[in-house]
Amino acid sequence: MNLPVEEMPTHWYNIQADLPEPLPPPKDPPTGPSRLKALPEMLLSECLRQETSTERWIPIPEEILDLYAQAGRPRPLIRARRLEKALKTPAKMYYKAEFYSPTGSHKVNTALAQAWYAKREGYERLATETGAGQWGTALAYAASLVGLKTTIYWVRAVHDWKPERRAFMRLYGAEVHASPSPATKVGRDLLKKDPKHPGSLGIAVSEGLEDARGDEKAIYCLGSVLSHVLLHQTIIGLETKRQFELLGEYPDTLVSSLGGGSNFGGFALPFLADAIHGKELRFVAAQSEAAPNLQGEYRYDFADHAELTPMLKMYTLGHTKEMRPIKGDGLRYHGCAPVLSLLRHLGYIDTIAYPADEKHVFSRARQFVRAEGFLPAPESAYSVACAIDEAEKAKDSGEKKTIAFNISGHGFMDMPGYSEVLGL
Ligand SMILES: *Cc1c(COP(=O)(O)O)cnc(C)c1O
Repeated sequence: MNLPVEEMPTHWYNIQADLPEPLPPPKDPPTGPSRLKALPEMLLSECLRQETSTERWIPIPEEILDLYAQAGRPRPLIRARRLEKALKTPAKMYYKAEFYSPTGSHKVNTALAQAWYAKREGYERLATETGAGQWGTALAYAASLVGLKTTIYWVRAVHDWKPERRAFMRLYGAEVHASPSPATKVGRDLLKKDPKHPGSLGIAVSEGLEDARGDEKAIYCLGSVLSHVLLHQTIIGLETKRQFELLGEYPDTLVSSLGGGSNFGGFALPFLADAIHGKELRFVAAQSEAAPNLQGEYRYDFADHAELTPMLKMYTLGHTKEMRPIKGDGLRYHGCAPVLSLLRHLGYIDTIAYPADEKHVFSRARQFVRAEGFLPAPESAYSVACAIDEAEKAKDSGEKKTIAFNISGHGFMDMPGYSEVLGL
């Protein structure tokens, strides 16, 4: 199901207007300098405003709508008929094709917005972290389109096995560092302890923040977790909802992968609004046993390793937790977005964590590739695996379910991961 460009949503949806209870605000730790007071230097003014807004609908500026159209939005919602047939499931399966993206993932939805706001606010350079590399590429792309520079701190464990993606970021003009890097104090301190430190998303966030703080022409951008990032991503779920409406259908099970929560949130929040208002819906977040943050504790924790950020009330494994590298490295983060954490705490979101050897997940992705032809990113393979598992359950129970799942990105640059796990 394709939506014409005229049908693209013109507003983002802000779940904060509909939450059953208010979102616990960020807070300062008991000791040390105030992180809350430093927030205006840390985030774009417009993003900070959106972060705490309780307005239900936030207009998308005309220029950002143009950038969305240029990036190929709206994106298709596809009925997985061949997969259904191969599985012999009575369930209907629909996937949202976020992999139709210039850089390969849903991350462009917030990258374009943040880069455009940064340009408008007079900045010249963006600094950021990246895990799987998708966010770094998306921001480098968005910055290039609006005429800004980018500096990217990339988790070393992934940086080292994705040389093509590194070249792709550089093609857009980005400066790329393996993290921890010698370019920041946080990085230097960690390298002293271990010159081959594999890094983590929490560490890379600290490096990006430290970098941007040292240059008034630079601003830090974050690709997940925060409410304004999820807000920008709601374009995914809003389109999907409209597409189901035109099909005369409504899903009863919604599935996506969850690292920090941006693609899951973007896809699910417009439907979670209906669940809050009483509709019977099942939401499943697909995670890895290497980073099952939704099974952690619901408490205040830092968003980064070096404790530069305010504390957020979220499901967390602890901000200095060491997690083993996986091929779906975009899912390897210690905490989950506060908005989704609250909804999980209130019982709206279920979760499954797949074994860290990733054999099950990649085998499911192989079934999907053979039936449908599209290659999911390793992170998106978790969503595919979970959707197929749900369809198998429907087969066992004979239920006529309608399963909607989000495919957050393509895996064109992640073949070494597939080869290693599946022995290709
Ligand atoms: C970043 C990323 C993820 C995980 O991050 P979320 O913020 O949880 O969405 C999943 N899939 C892809 C393709 C990604 O790039």
